[in-house]
Amino acid sequence: MFIDEYVSAVLPIRGKILLVDDQVVNIKILHQLLNDDYDIHMARDGVQAIDMCKKIQPDIILLDIEMPTLSGFDVCERLKADPLTQDVVIIFVTGHFDEEKEVKGFQLGAVDFIHKPINPVITKARIKNQFTLKCQSDLLRKIALLDGLTGVANRRKFEESYPQSWLYCVRAKQPISIIMLDIDYFKRYNDHYGHSQGDTCLRSVAQAISSRVNRPYDLVARFGGEEFICVLPDTDYDGALFVTQQIVDSIIALKIPHQGSDVMAFVTISAGLASVNPSQDMDLQTLVETADKQLYRAKENGRNRVEAINMDSIL
Ligand code: GH3
Ligand code: MG
Ligand code: MG
Ligand code: MG
Repeated sequence: MFIDEYVSAVLPIRGKILLVDDQVVNIKILHQLLNDDYDIHMARDGVQAIDMCKKIQPDIILLDIEMPTLSGFDVCERLKADPLTQDVVIIFVTGHFDEEKEVKGFQLGAVDFIHKPINPVITKARIKNQFTLKCQSDLLRKIALLDGLTGVANRRKFEESYPQSWLYCVRAKQPISIIMLDIDYFKRYNDHYGHSQGDTCLRSVAQAISSRVNRPYDLVARFGGEEFICVLPDTDYDGALFVTQQIVDSIIALKIPHQGSDVMAFVTISAGLASVNPSQDMDLQTLVETADKQLYRAKENGRNRVEAINMDSIL
């Protein structure tokens, strides 16, 4: 995904709000008040609230405190403990002013309290303020993990998400593949066309790679100067080999002139692929190192090509 897409993706026109209350009448009042400005979802108890939160990823939850089985405090605690839901903004809605309860709510990670019976103007204003803050922090979080030049994920994002993908594949007993990519004779490209055109070329290459790697859990990241890395969870050797060859072919298809290349008159890329069915006792760095060795072989064997290994066949 590229920066413009990111900005529009994280700055939604309409925020998503989840209303949680065991009494329908309270939900109705808030629904009426907020329905014009936000997408409203509703839950009648704590368990349903947590489920929906994982599913719809709301921006804000308006959470009743007094509910049977799971109280609003319990719900808040669980949402904040789960990485999948920890960023949701929680505002408690409470029937009576109680300082002790407010202290507890803030300690658990809520950002505000609204008192019933609600004042429509104050409630709307508070929610709008919180929504603006949420959009800003979402944007900052995402930008911190993006490569500024190419718009794909940066190295930090790779370091953060690769261990998670690896663990997922170990647990789910699914294969995982890593592709290492490096533009051929890129130093000569810069020397011949200048650094600024070099940057433009890097952006085009990044975009071409991204367009071939687009399952929800796939990752394309800039690994270094003119090197990219792709993490393909749930993807076996054959599938990953197909994708890798497509990437290499798509770079030629860009037809970016490259006078200095020994391969052909256009920019090309070399690729190293390694796939494995990971197990608990394997080191996740081995897969990256193996893909990197394959990339080295691709360079040795003439560039503009894929070298690949299925680690299951050698372990
Ligand atoms: P090989 O085919 O063996 O990969 O040769 P190469 O010239 O691509 O490899 P080398 O590692 O010698 O040079 C990489 C070059 O990539 C060095 C630098 O000119 C260029 N480069 C790295 N980062 C950037 C960048 O951010 N912008 C631009 N324009 N060029 C970059
Ligand atoms: Mg209640
Ligand atoms: Mg390089
Ligand atoms: Mg290179």
